[in-house]
Amino acid sequence: MSGNRSISRRAPLLAAVVGAASVLLTPSAPAAVAAPACLTGSLAFDHYDAEAGTSKPLRTQVARNANWELWGTTSSGTASRRLATGITSHVDGRFSACYSGALAEAYVVFRSSSTATWRVIKGKYDPTEYSFSSSRRWNVSTSVDLGVVKVPSSMQRAWKVVDTLNLLYWKRANSTSACWTSRQASGSCDTLTYVWRQDSTDGGYWDYGGTNFVILAGNMPDSKHLILHEAGHWWQWQLYGRTFPRVTNCNPHYVELSSSTSCAWTEGFADAVAAYVLGDYRYVHDSGESDSFVNGPDTPAGTTATPSRAAWARPCSTCGRPPAPTAATGTAPSS
Ligand SMILES: [Zn+2]
Repeated sequence: MSGNRSISRRAPLLAAVVGAASVLLTPSAPAAVAAPACLTGSLAFDHYDAEAGTSKPLRTQVARNANWELWGTTSSGTASRRLATGITSHVDGRFSACYSGALAEAYVVFRSSSTATWRVIKGKYDPTEYSFSSSRRWNVSTSVDLGVVKVPSSMQRAWKVVDTLNLLYWKRANSTSACWTSRQASGSCDTLTYVWRQDSTDGGYWDYGGTNFVILAGNMPDSKHLILHEAGHWWQWQLYGRTFPRVTNCNPHYVELSSSTSCAWTEGFADAVAAYVLGDYRYVHDSGESDSFVNGPDTPAGTTATPSRAAWARPCSTCGRPPAPTAATGTAPSS
């Protein structure tokens, strides 16, 4: 199973995290083994499912491989500090955040990231991750089940990105390191960074040559295809060793209209990454509308220079041009 493989691949990273946490825990710990104090539960988020169509039904999904931190105090009246770190289960989003002794106060902080392998931050120049805290518990000396901890709705799309990126990570076919490609060794991985803001309108592209972050805005994370398409651009850049093909005649580009071989190789690669990871043959927009990749007798044979149909025009994902023009603007290939 790919999920099981991912665990073994990530083991070195986890060992590093746990090791760091144990340093925090031991300076004044008594020799006697105390019963651990644990907060357990599962992390989940609601999301609008664009893959299900334009009605985008609201679903609940567990957040897998997502970072958590145990915070608390060992005696009342002292400041809370970080006591342990880890990630949620890759299977069911469960967490078990433990400290090797009783805690006067304890709570779990969840962050919009997965180890240091991928993360969602608030701005191109604001590396702050989204985070929130569970309910607080006092006088914890055994295991306390918090049940299902839900990501606040205002930031749930950040965790949809975090969870969806697992799907590509599990299929990246790198058996030599925990990183996105075998070009890097475990512990030295490049971090795949997404910038997302609910109130932003700047998004839908990979900021190649700038921050090299994926920039998303508003409801874009409603589409897993969109999330994975942009990851595909970053990943192709990683596979090339942080270089990227010289791309010409790719602005605008369309699913069904040819433009250039370099555009096909890069945009087609990103589309293929999303479709392969999700196991279908389409591109799904964040609106829930979709374009089929299936080739058949009805497939038009136009080009961007001499289009045969414009109905499938979709926004460019990497070049930052304005949204796909409509017939009303007069700038789109007309049908
Ligand atoms: Zn693209």
